[in-house]
Amino acid sequence: MEFRLIDRIRERTAQGREDVRLGIGDDAAVVAPPVGQEIAIAVDTMVEGVHFPVGTAAADIGWKSLAVNLSDLAAMGASPAWALLALTLPPQPAESLKQFIDGYAEGFAQLAQPHRLALIGGDTTRGALTISVAVHGFVPPGKALTRAGARAGDVVLVTGTLGDAAGGLQLLQRGARVDEGDGRAAYLIERLHRPTPRLAAGLALRERASACIDVSDGLLADLGHICEESGLGAEVDAELLPRSPMLMASFDELAVRDFALAGGDDYELCFTVPSAMVVDVQTDLARLGCGATRIGRMVEGAGVRVRDAQGQWLETTRHGWDHFA
Ligand code: ADP
Ligand code: MG
Repeated sequence: MEFRLIDRIRERTAQGREDVRLGIGDDAAVVAPPVGQEIAIAVDTMVEGVHFPVGTAAADIGWKSLAVNLSDLAAMGASPAWALLALTLPPQPAESLKQFIDGYAEGFAQLAQPHRLALIGGDTTRGALTISVAVHGFVPPGKALTRAGARAGDVVLVTGTLGDAAGGLQLLQRGARVDEGDGRAAYLIERLHRPTPRLAAGLALRERASACIDVSDGLLADLGHICEESGLGAEVDAELLPRSPMLMASFDELAVRDFALAGGDDYELCFTVPSAMVVDVQTDLARLGCGATRIGRMVEGAGVRVRDAQGQWLETTRHGWDHFA
């Protein structure tokens, strides 16, 4: 049975790559790393009821389990190549198992194919629904973007818009239907279930961003990591945070600000660049479709401080936003 499941996954995620010498089917995969490149590697685990709501569609789980990993590669400025998939599936009738696998593989493949990512192996076991994906990507020697390296005076930017996924989750928890609100609910829930990893933006930021991170735990927390690793502080203007019209039309101003500052699951890139480079970077990222908005700057000190439209500092200690965690 398990073997037939693995065959279904293999068929549905097939991706020819010269550098995969041996893919799914043997005791281990064998790949030929490109000469002169470094390999960036990341793994992320999603547990039902913790990282996605119970009842999430299998195809959405497939997409998101890969997207969160590709987002990590994007944040490093790496281009994706190979993935491993460890699936833990609850005991269930063969038919529903097959349906889950087919849906999962379809969502996974929808994101994998345009990036020519090959699924080269994995593991399949029984237990509470848990999905672990590991990805491998290439980056020129020494060119990986990191959380360290920001300098005082660098401008802080973020791709896309913030807070949509948290808004989508809130709508789901309220029992909203996807067809509510002229497509607004559908848009926000889609942003939650099908985040877009900013891979092209990550490549464009190589040799230009001084630090970079993907926003998975909320802007405050993740920009906080850049601050820690770079030994600096950051000042953010709340009124500059990029927010989608769909989010603004669905929640009041304070909720939107909370979502944008502390909501998780956006998978946008937050990065720092020297001020002389900001316009160039913004032009390139606009061309790539995601855009980049300047939201603040790096300063001497520690921690992230947020200013409101009146210039007042908000209460933004980690603790102050704990209600959101
Ligand atoms: P082994 O007992 O040697 O680990 P498995 O039966 O676990 O072998 O796996 C057989 C083959 O199928 C291996 O190549 C493995 O990488 C692949 N595989 C198993 N589960 C998955 C999965 N969920 N996704 C992709 N490949 C898988
Ligand atoms: Mg195994």
